[in-house]
Amino acid sequence: MSDTHEHAAGDSVPELKQRIRELTGMLNACRLRLPNAPTEAVRELAESEERFALAVRGTNDGIWDWDIRSGKVFFSPPWKSMIGYEDDELENVFATFETQLHPEDHDRVMATLNDYLAGSIPRYAVEFRFRHKDGSWRWILARGRALRDEQGAPYRMAGSHTDVTERKHDEEELRKARQAAESANSANSAKSAFLANMSHEIRTPMNGVIGMSELLLGTGLNETQREYLEMLKLSADSLLELLNDILDFSKIEAGRMELDAHEFDLSEVVTEISQAMGIRAFQKRLVFLHHIAPEVPVRLIGDDGRLRQILVNLIGNAIKFTHKGGVTIEVSLESETADRVTLHFKINDTGIGIASEMRESIFEAFTQAEHSTSRRYGGTGLGLAICHDLVALMQGRIWVESQPGEGSTFHFTAAFGRTSGISIKPKSPRFKPVVTAHSSMKVLIVEDGHVSQIVGARMLEKRGHVVTLASNGREAIDRCAKETFDAILMDVHMPGINGYEATARIRQSEKATGKHVPIIAMTANAMKGDRERCIAAGMDDYIAKPLRSDALFQVVEQFAKRSALPESAPPPPAPAPPALRTQIETPPFDLAEFRESTGDEKLMRKLVAIFSEDAQKYLRKAEKALTAGKARPLYEAAHSLKGMLGVYAAGKALKLSNELCEYAHAEDLKGAQLMLDQLKKECAILGDALLAAFGPGT
Ligand code: ADP
Repeated sequence: MSDTHEHAAGDSVPELKQRIRELTGMLNACRLRLPNAPTEAVRELAESEERFALAVRGTNDGIWDWDIRSGKVFFSPPWKSMIGYEDDELENVFATFETQLHPEDHDRVMATLNDYLAGSIPRYAVEFRFRHKDGSWRWILARGRALRDEQGAPYRMAGSHTDVTERKHDEEELRKARQAAESANSANSAKSAFLANMSHEIRTPMNGVIGMSELLLGTGLNETQREYLEMLKLSADSLLELLNDILDFSKIEAGRMELDAHEFDLSEVVTEISQAMGIRAFQKRLVFLHHIAPEVPVRLIGDDGRLRQILVNLIGNAIKFTHKGGVTIEVSLESETADRVTLHFKINDTGIGIASEMRESIFEAFTQAEHSTSRRYGGTGLGLAICHDLVALMQGRIWVESQPGEGSTFHFTAAFGRTSGISIKPKSPRFKPVVTAHSSMKVLIVEDGHVSQIVGARMLEKRGHVVTLASNGREAIDRCAKETFDAILMDVHMPGINGYEATARIRQSEKATGKHVPIIAMTANAMKGDRERCIAAGMDDYIAKPLRSDALFQVVEQFAKRSALPESAPPPPAPAPPALRTQIETPPFDLAEFRESTGDEKLMRKLVAIFSEDAQKYLRKAEKALTAGKARPLYEAAHSLKGMLGVYAAGKALKLSNELCEYAHAEDLKGAQLMLDQLKKECAILGDALLAAFGPGT
């Protein structure tokens, strides 16, 4: 070394210069290389930073980077703007992170973070509310990852914050909607259950009230008693009507209203309704007319029950809101195709009319044209809403034309199927007050309620059927084992063996005999599904309580013929109805039926003896009323005649007396006179025939 030094020191200048040049060259080379290396690294770093910045800027998410050891945190500008701050604000935002958390979320968020840092959960992802600068709460989704040292201790954690306020809001809306739907659903089913119960509870006592008043009306009453009783019956009927309206409306609301289509006769429907409603019109001294255009086909397929309901509602309103003048019903043909007809019904009145601003809304539920309406006229405002929905089910529409003070015309259209050659099972004919239209049946009534027993039994007995009573399922089964019945009316709800079970046991025992006794369920439940349940339990039909005589006869008597035939027998050839039926129109009365309805030869003779005197009394009353031009007493006399003629099963006379009632309703005194003349003749013939059958002097 020293040698070198010495050497160097002793070297020549040119040599030294050479060395310096060499060193400078090396230095330069180094210099050249040196700045190159850091530039590369810086550039890469810059690029990566730029990418990061781009990513940070390009996302709406807020990025944070937390140096756990120093506690320093980097927050990207979007992070700050997410909660309403400028980039240069909030230097130490992390210090306030905890305090900005929603108090309800605070503990959960901190626990999640600690669990993650402690390694007890694999991922850090948590949603929470964070306070915005403006004081509102933003929903934030935080996600992050930690870097850990060899011991697993976290020293750095970075992640993102996403503003999910809108999604949360949507979710909340959805949750609320779902909750609302769920509670509406459970409210709906609670409502249905309530209605089913209520309907049962109300119908059972109503059965007694209506049935008993119907029976009482058929007994000898003085004028005042009759009047009171009619009022009682009217109230009971309207209570039941209201109950039905509420049930219907809730069915429609729940989307469970369905039409029950079958073949029916339109003219029968219109005539029957006019008869029934005519009484009210008559009492208000209103002209009441109906007309079906000749081109309207009368055999139709549709739900005549619901059509009746619409008509009864509209005609009922028309009569209710009219004080002078009258009500007319017109049916015309709107359009037709090969298999469908659309009819146009028009119910016109000369009543109080409806103000123009109310004409649309009266078809909404619970709407009445005036607030004073319900006080003055009663009603619930449900009728037209139900009509509106029923008409829609019949593919029609309903509307009203009206002039306040002059009257209203309600129109509706409805589509029906046409009858064709294809056989469609017609609904059993509706009850017509011609007593001879049925033969006597043996009916077992199974019913635990005493009042219902009496009502059912008396109605059927008055109609000439023979009734046996059983108070419970056990008795019914025993009775059936010993006797044969043409039909059984079975109460569904009975203590001990209920109607379903009794039916099942009767059906079981029938397997051995091959017989099938028609069983008709009687229940005060009027909810949908009851009928299906009864049929499924092996019953043949169903009738709702309270029992109404026409419905009762209809449902029972549909089995009159069938029960006389062996179960497996083919339907009888067309021209071979039972002998009874072929002869019914000819004789003035039906002896067999008269006998069956009285059930007692002695009583029968007594009835024959008093016939002429009784009939004369009423005929004279009618004549007197007619001469005086008084429709009301005429109606009363005709009504009394009708009642007594029924006992004698006097088909033709009964029909005539019924028509006399109608003319009296309509105050058509000319028509009534013609009818009365015929009725007098028929009563004379009847009196002779009765005497001939039982011999004079009985
Ligand atoms: P309500 O049970 O009250 O009669 P509706 O739905 O049948 O219920 O009728 C609603 C309202 O429409 C009635 O309260 C009445 O104000 C009006 N209205 C209906 N029909 C007529 C009519 N023929 N004449 C006048 N107003 C009527």
